[in-house]
Amino acid sequence: MPRCSVCGKTLLQDEIGLTRKLISRAVTEFLCFDCLAAKFKTDIPRLKEMVEYYRSQGCMLFN
Ligand SMILES: [Zn+2]
Repeated sequence: MPRCSVCGKTLLQDEIGLTRKLISRAVTEFLCFDCLAAKFKTDIPRLKEMVEYYRSQGCMLFN
């Protein structure tokens, strides 16, 4: 599995998908929920809500 490019934590599939969704599908470095929250000035529950939302929309990144 890839690791977070900031803190080095092993990433979950949802974290990889959300990095792609928020930054770019072409990214090669991914961020964990903690580092995404810091980067986008939000919090982890909100990021998880976004994942659930995109999944409910049938987004391929979260299948
Ligand atoms: Zn991180």
